[in-house]
Amino acid sequence: MENNHSEKVQLLIIGSGPAGYTAAIYAARANLKPVLYQGIQPGGQLTITTEVENYPGYADGIQGPEMMVDFEKQAKRMGADIRFGMATAADLSASPFKITIDDEKIIEAEALIISTGASAKWLHLESEQRLNGYGVSACAVCDGFFFKGQEVAIVGGGDTACEEALYLSKICSTVHMLVRRDEMRASKIMQQRVDKASNITVYWNTEVVEILGKEKVEGVKIRNRKSHEESLIPVKAFFVAIGHTPNSDIFKGQITMDEQGYIKTINGSTRTNIEGVFAAGDVQDKTYRQAVTAAGSGSMAALDSERYLSAKEA
Ligand code: NDP
Repeated sequence: MENNHSEKVQLLIIGSGPAGYTAAIYAARANLKPVLYQGIQPGGQLTITTEVENYPGYADGIQGPEMMVDFEKQAKRMGADIRFGMATAADLSASPFKITIDDEKIIEAEALIISTGASAKWLHLESEQRLNGYGVSACAVCDGFFFKGQEVAIVGGGDTACEEALYLSKICSTVHMLVRRDEMRASKIMQQRVDKASNITVYWNTEVVEILGKEKVEGVKIRNRKSHEESLIPVKAFFVAIGHTPNSDIFKGQITMDEQGYIKTINGSTRTNIEGVFAAGDVQDKTYRQAVTAAGSGSMAALDSERYLSAKEA
């Protein structure tokens, strides 16, 4: 029965980053009449970055929030039904899949694309929040270029931190890598590469006390966790690489995920272990995490959904 609190749709897309909007563009053009719920942060992680210079097609670069407005406009122009609302619960036990929006309305979907993204973890320091976008960033690949030839710091000791430190070492003069324990979580090979880079200095047992600067980053105050000694490093940028959390909580226990909560897709596709449920973008990708790769997987999810829905009809 359909009433104000429930609605049947052919294809539901949850999430409004590059993956979700691209899925909506493709699905609308294929006449699947997609309904997309944007979530709490319409536009996703790109709305908290500044300039995006590595998305093909924007020859002069573009501000992240503006780019996501373009994505949304394009999806709407193709006829996608874009709505503001947050998926708060899910029942994937049988098709149609039931997704609760804002704790009240239930959408029954024949096919579902999960493109809820991931969120960067932060240290939760007041100075980190205040200077976010003014030298504080959770994405070296996005923002490293703006600090060409300058000294920068990065916090974290995982593969991402190593990869980003190496990336930064090719652009910046010195990279100060702050690791909280006396060892890294990163794979040996990544650590060896960091060791070999002549302009990366690793600080062990080090915690960040404060990021310095009023309107832009001017340095970082650190403390050695063993000696409790504090010191200052003058840097122009501070990168946070302490991991991401996939936004997959409402699907826990219902769909196959890895131990960190990333939804598992079947190699070379966006199919999950549940027929009719597809995953695209950062919620299923902990390796690449780029706007362009997310958009690519969004188009794959729409094509996979189209195939699924037409096979179901036949
Ligand atoms: P990880 O969870 O692997 O590492 C997070 C790092 O940040 C750890 O060193 C952790 O320290 C540190 N950390 C966490 N919280 C804090 C904090 N509050 N203050 C200071 N440091 C903190 O995340 P990654 O993003 O590095 O990697 C995620 C997954 O993706 C991993 O499985 C990784 O292997 C994979 N990956 C693989 C790549 C590749 O193969 N090329 C590239 C990128 C990612 P501690 O160890 O003390 O907890």
